Amino acid sequence: MRYIDPHIHMVSRTTDDYQRMAQSGCIAVTEPAFWAGFDRSSAAGFFDYFRQLTEFEPKRASQFGIRHFTWLCINPKEADDPGFAREVISIIPEFLQRPNVLGIGEIGLNKNTRNELTILEEQIALAEQHEQLILVHTPHLEDKLKGTRLIMDALSASKIDPGRILIDHVEEHTVGEVLDRGFWAGMTLYPDTKMTPQRATDVIEMFGTERIWMNSAGDWGCSDPLAVPKARLEMARRGHAPETIDKVTFENPKTFLSQSPKFQINAAVS
Ligand SMILES: [Zn+2]
Repeated sequence: MRYIDPHIHMVSRTTDDYQRMAQSGCIAVTEPAFWAGFDRSSAAGFFDYFRQLTEFEPKRASQFGIRHFTWLCINPKEADDPGFAREVISIIPEFLQRPNVLGIGEIGLNKNTRNELTILEEQIALAEQHEQLILVHTPHLEDKLKGTRLIMDALSASKIDPGRILIDHVEEHTVGEVLDRGFWAGMTLYPDTKMTPQRATDVIEMFGTERIWMNSAGDWGCSDPLAVPKARLEMARRGHAPETIDKVTFENPKTFLSQSPKFQINAAVS
């Protein structure tokens, strides 16, 4: 079996995790730029982070036969100071041509503030200008529905085809609207919050398998880098066909990500 984990923060994971993921069938990961658990003190901190994502991490992944791709941005949690955010945004274009960069992400909203929305709009414009794919972070818990709608409105105001935008961390109350508006939807499998493998399988049963994927969003907090293979097992336990399981954990991410010509994986791997 093979799968893609399209949202995982490998800079926070150990090399043992790469090994276990490879043993479980992972052949590619995509890593959005996000919050490090603390606020960086300068734009130079982001410059170094973008180097780590585009130079060091792909090499570490390749030791285990895993292709590593990435997305660049200033994350919503650090985007509430527009001056600082713009300084970071100004260094992104020089990295966009690097071979493992697929687009802009994970952009979105955290507390749904006016400043966050302004910086979101500016990063959507950056993606539009450079013809990049977009990966979107949606806020947590009580802010999620409102934030998801604000984000979708900002995206719809651009000229970017919604088929080139993945809206992540959807839950039961947001997935329908995301799909109805033509976007792709990502389900994040977390041990406690967001989705469990069981709930994600419920969503597949209710909403179908088109334009939807699953990811672990593994990071420095409580998370599980093997969440996607665990969801595969849950789907199999419920009697889903191997083709259905492959579609949501391999074919769908491959289809979406292949809209970037840089996303190349070894199709012979099984
Ligand atoms: Zn993330």
